[in-house]
Amino acid sequence: MSGRKEERWVTETLYEGDGFTCAFRADRVLYEENTGEQHLVIFENALFGRMMALDGITQVTERDEFIYHEMMTHVPILAHGAVRRVLIIGGGDGGILREVLRHKTVEKVTMVEIDPAVTEFAKKHMPQVSAGAFDDPRLDLVFADGAKFVEESTESYDVVIVDSTDPIGPGEVLFREEFYRAARERLTPGGVIVTQNGVPFMQGAELKGTIEKFRRIFRVATCYLATIPTYVGGPMAMGWGTDDESLTAVSPEILAKRFADAHISTRYYTHEVHNAAFALPRYVLDLVENI
Ligand code: SAM
Repeated sequence: MSGRKEERWVTETLYEGDGFTCAFRADRVLYEENTGEQHLVIFENALFGRMMALDGITQVTERDEFIYHEMMTHVPILAHGAVRRVLIIGGGDGGILREVLRHKTVEKVTMVEIDPAVTEFAKKHMPQVSAGAFDDPRLDLVFADGAKFVEESTESYDVVIVDSTDPIGPGEVLFREEFYRAARERLTPGGVIVTQNGVPFMQGAELKGTIEKFRRIFRVATCYLATIPTYVGGPMAMGWGTDDESLTAVSPEILAKRFADAHISTRYYTHEVHNAAFALPRYVLDLVENI
């Protein structure tokens, strides 16, 4: 019978070339546009709540965003132990910013996002992700290309968090060696950079490429893992580059104390999960060791 509402499905395009895709039913499209930088759609899905996709690639969902945002922030910040200044590259939805600002030791966060539309419409349609973080006086929000920012900035940061899209479109420059080298120049001594490095079971070359470059730039080049249901294909890798070997060997007792002293309630991160995240399965070790 006519009149049946046509279902709209948003298809994950990241692995289409490899013959794999998955799709999320869009029960309600809240916003959709070509922003000039990328295609942006925010929609409601029965299982994952409100979701954002950029250029057809799932970025953030209401239901599982806490995993990625907690692990991309509390791992470097608590491993370091004395973070005052943080640089976020990308992160337009505000989830990384929200988690960073929960650390009272953090005095300043610079966030460099290339596409103002992502931030504007994430704030409007997915406000629970940033949860007011954009109003925090510690934030310096810059709309610019992160690669240019790190080249031109003279500021220093204890942690650099690259919460980028995948290496297509505007995100491609954030996987180049010159970006990593310039980002390293922004780190204080003993600082650490963490990077969104995809799902190694599905896109191992992306992780391998980053670690190869990190190995030429930092004394420590590795990754850690967390499993985010909507980043399909198994655990996701977060690239880790630093000159301070001690940051990946913080004792459980010290991590536990730092986590307790931070007075942060989490839904994924614990100090045990923190340490376990660096225990890499053989297929990931094969990607990051034999370089
Ligand atoms: N958590 C997501 C993931 O793991 O794929 C990433 C989320 S966040 C929405 C990615 C952000 O990176 C987007 O807001 C995008 O506009 C931004 N971005 C892409 N390329 C950029 C660049 N060259 N400089 C700054 N931001 C960039």
